[in-house]
Amino acid sequence: MISQAGRPSVVLVVEDNLANQLLVDAMLLDSGYEVRFASSASEALKSIELMRPDLILMDISLPGQDGLSLTRQLKADPANASMQIVALTAHAMLGDRELSLDAGCIGHITKPFDTKALRAQIAGFLAMAAA
Ligand code: MN
Repeated sequence: MISQAGRPSVVLVVEDNLANQLLVDAMLLDSGYEVRFASSASEALKSIELMRPDLILMDISLPGQDGLSLTRQLKADPANASMQIVALTAHAMLGDRELSLDAGCIGHITKPFDTKALRAQIAGFLAMAAA
């Protein structure tokens, strides 16, 4: 998928678990996206400034600052408020989706994820983000 800017869509995956990083990487292979990874909130902030990703897949449980706190921080910053963030998390309890949406996420995908479904979901969120 090509973003409006005419470059490949950039997807930033904020995930501290290497196995999950590799899984998402394998899943998005041949997707045409430029996929980048950050394993902490501070790494994510640097990547966001440099890459201006079209979509951020945000793990919630991270070492240090958690993903929902980072999402709130981004949404409160006019320079980053337009970032499209989807929670990608093992938090699947009742109410967790609402917490993600309240923090400013446009979606909430629970792990373990269905790899085929995730690919379609990401395409859908990118289309939403471009609309
Ligand atoms: Mn994690």
